[in-house]
Amino acid sequence: MREIETFAQPGQFYRGNLHCHSTRSDGRLGVEAVCAAYREAGYDFITLTDHFLPIYDFPVTDTRPFRTDAFTTILGAEMHVPATALGETWHILATGLPLDFTATLPGESASEIAARCAASGAFVTLVHPAWYGLTVGDADAIEAAHAVEIYNHTSAIKNDRGDGWNLLDQLLSQGRRLTGCASDDAHFHFDDAFGGWVMVRAPSRDPDALVDALKHGHYYSSQGPLLHSIAHDGDAIEIECSPAAAIMVLGRGSKAAHEIGIDLTKSRLPLDRVRRGGHARIVVVDDRGRRAWSNPIWFDK
Ligand SMILES: [Zn+2]
Repeated sequence: MREIETFAQPGQFYRGNLHCHSTRSDGRLGVEAVCAAYREAGYDFITLTDHFLPIYDFPVTDTRPFRTDAFTTILGAEMHVPATALGETWHILATGLPLDFTATLPGESASEIAARCAASGAFVTLVHPAWYGLTVGDADAIEAAHAVEIYNHTSAIKNDRGDGWNLLDQLLSQGRRLTGCASDDAHFHFDDAFGGWVMVRAPSRDPDALVDALKHGHYYSSQGPLLHSIAHDGDAIEIECSPAAAIMVLGRGSKAAHEIGIDLTKSRLPLDRVRRGGHARIVVVDDRGRRAWSNPIWFDK
């Protein structure tokens, strides 16, 4: 059995929310209050991603004054340009931007602004795809994307469209190598915080180390359950986790295996059929229906 890359990295897991808003755009709380809310909830870091629009004077919100020894912030923003296949304004999340990131350029396309964010060092995510009907074709156009938001807590609460795995699974089956992150997209107008987060394995809480780990896919996503270990050989995959009601491995199309039980903390699942599809991912579900999701594991390396 060989531990997958994420769990074999030096350092520890840091809990973070990559997507939230303050009064610098359409959020209800000020910058300091948003940082305090997450810090007090036990998070290690957040990225405050206000809407990068002219009506808000293109904010890359400065959260640096609210860093402490136990809590840090990554600078970022949510980018908007016209237009998806359904004619909607694009939402592209950039985690790790310089404070002086240049305003959206006239005529700039979604793929161009995503590439410009990535070139300036950001981890680029296609957010809440189900909420606004993002298509596979839309996603294909964004070559610079690192990830798809596979759970958006606000979309789940407000629209029952919190899922992003339907899109990411299709992209994976086409050979795209993207990861998947859960987030809140909290605006604090109602109880929309602390519902989905990432656990990033990094050597330190340094913002640059966290962004680097995100870009390498050294993280998993959760609504509650913890993943302690994932290891595999040619025939099977072993998962260790917090007490679970279901542990599953999902591959290309319908290829999958699972174990259902009570307080499962370890499972060994057959990999032979799943592995032939080229990639797999792990899902752990607790007795309240909360999920933890691994990133895709690719088998051809
Ligand atoms: Zn948002």
